[in-house]
Amino acid sequence: MKGLMMDFPLTTHAILEYGNRVFPHKEIVTKLPNGSWHRYHFSDLYIRAKQLASALVHSLGVQPGDRVATFAWNHYQHVELYYGIPGAGAICHTLNVRLSVEQIIFIVNHAEAKIIFIDATLVPLFEKVAPYTTGVKKYVLLNAPENFNTSLTDTILYEDLLKESRPDYQWYPSDENDACGLCYTSGTTGNPKGALYSHRSTYLHALALLMPNAANLSVRDRVLLIVPQFHVMAWGFPYVCILSGSDMILPSLHLQPDAIIQILEQEKITVANGVPTIWLGVYDAMKKNPPKEKLALREYVVGGSALPPSLIEAFEKDFGIKGVHAWGMTETSPIGTASRLQNIHDNLTDHEKLAVRAKQGIELPGVEIRAVMEDGSIAPRDGETVGEFEIRGAWIIKSYYKYHDNHLSFSEDGWFKTGDVGTLDAQGYMNISDRSKDLIKSGGEWISSVALEIALMAHPEIKEACVIAIPDEKWVERPLACVVFRNENIVSKEALNAFLGEHFASYQLPDQYIGMNEIPKTSVGKLNKKELRRRWAEGEL
Ligand code: ADP
Repeated sequence: MKGLMMDFPLTTHAILEYGNRVFPHKEIVTKLPNGSWHRYHFSDLYIRAKQLASALVHSLGVQPGDRVATFAWNHYQHVELYYGIPGAGAICHTLNVRLSVEQIIFIVNHAEAKIIFIDATLVPLFEKVAPYTTGVKKYVLLNAPENFNTSLTDTILYEDLLKESRPDYQWYPSDENDACGLCYTSGTTGNPKGALYSHRSTYLHALALLMPNAANLSVRDRVLLIVPQFHVMAWGFPYVCILSGSDMILPSLHLQPDAIIQILEQEKITVANGVPTIWLGVYDAMKKNPPKEKLALREYVVGGSALPPSLIEAFEKDFGIKGVHAWGMTETSPIGTASRLQNIHDNLTDHEKLAVRAKQGIELPGVEIRAVMEDGSIAPRDGETVGEFEIRGAWIIKSYYKYHDNHLSFSEDGWFKTGDVGTLDAQGYMNISDRSKDLIKSGGEWISSVALEIALMAHPEIKEACVIAIPDEKWVERPLACVVFRNENIVSKEALNAFLGEHFASYQLPDQYIGMNEIPKTSVGKLNKKELRRRWAEGEL
């Protein structure tokens, strides 16, 4: 027997209708690419997102299901696109501005994007892409002056487009299972692959993420969205903030540590998100030049790579700010887990508590995770037995967009294979030891590159560390550590291995250390192991 409850579609415009009804006065603040500030309210976002949806339909002829792309920084217009494009029945397809020209061409053509909204500062980059794209009919320029010069053909200024809207526009009546967003993986393995989010998955992901056990956001928060809107929908924060009534602060391209600190101070930010690299930079800058007054920032939410416990500890000790560790992937919308202490941890020592918080955390309600061993059986939740994580749930992809080899990414019973490896403990905390392709297999024994990196980053003279496998005749693979020293105080291999020796068996210690000025990063700020392997193979390290 079916329940007798209403069919209320969980759509992105239902999120915006809610925000406009109950939090119309809440703020959206942008530091625009030219350094000026823009401030308005949820009620303004509502009006303009509706105008945009109307103009897309009535002026640009957008049809339901069309892919409408964005190539833009984090700002209020990009938030309008997040709501206006699906509000027109189309799919908001975010393009990662940090990918290579070849990858962007591949993605635009694969997604068959018809219209692209581009920030003026990014136009020179897109001019290299445009000649190789097929099917793009219109470019809409964001933050561009009237007389903006570009080789892109068929352009219109964003504000001019909005003028073409009709006042009586009604949101396109999407089914909650219709697609609303499209985001590609950064292609660290092969060509980028598309994750096609639905209205329903987006809504449920945002609801789960705002809860106290995860991002813990409310009307009292002012949230700085550092994670780019061009990567995994800024971790869903543009939806989360509207649902929780949190003020939203958007930094566009001002992502250098000093610029972030200035925004944290000026805007009295209480919560911010970002990858560990960002927070390592912010911590260092704050240490060199401590803020005059204690920041309002209570927590920073970190994912994308492992959050080093040394950073959690230092930030909290020196500035009283908590790091909250979360995990996810493009394919999981992205947040799957978050790590916070519970009352069962009250009697642990500080060191033990830190170890819990450094784990990736427990599943958000709405997803399930299991660790699968090499023989195909499910690993017990004992905190010791290692397996590859598989995930299923309300905001996990069931297939990549227009992709033939889907079967490789899913188990026979339909779980998504994450490619991450590690343990689940009795309390349900996930602990990632590596990506399966980054694990080092030395003489038949596994070595976790992530564990070595985290331990090295706890050394006072090391700023960043990245460990890769290099081929070895005797052991098949051996670990090589690339490190960036603080203050140019170079530490010897013997001293570093003695430091690591407290926690690692001798066969796990790196054979070589290479000092670098900087570790190469991927388009989303992760350690670029593929590039380091290439440099090693070609004798460039
Ligand atoms: P891509 O797969 O294109 O690199 P994603 O941003 O989707 O881009 O990356 C997802 C991967 O990032 C995960 O599979 C995992 O390996 C890594 N990752 C994400 N969050 C964490 C975390 N908190 N700790 C360790 N690794 C993480």
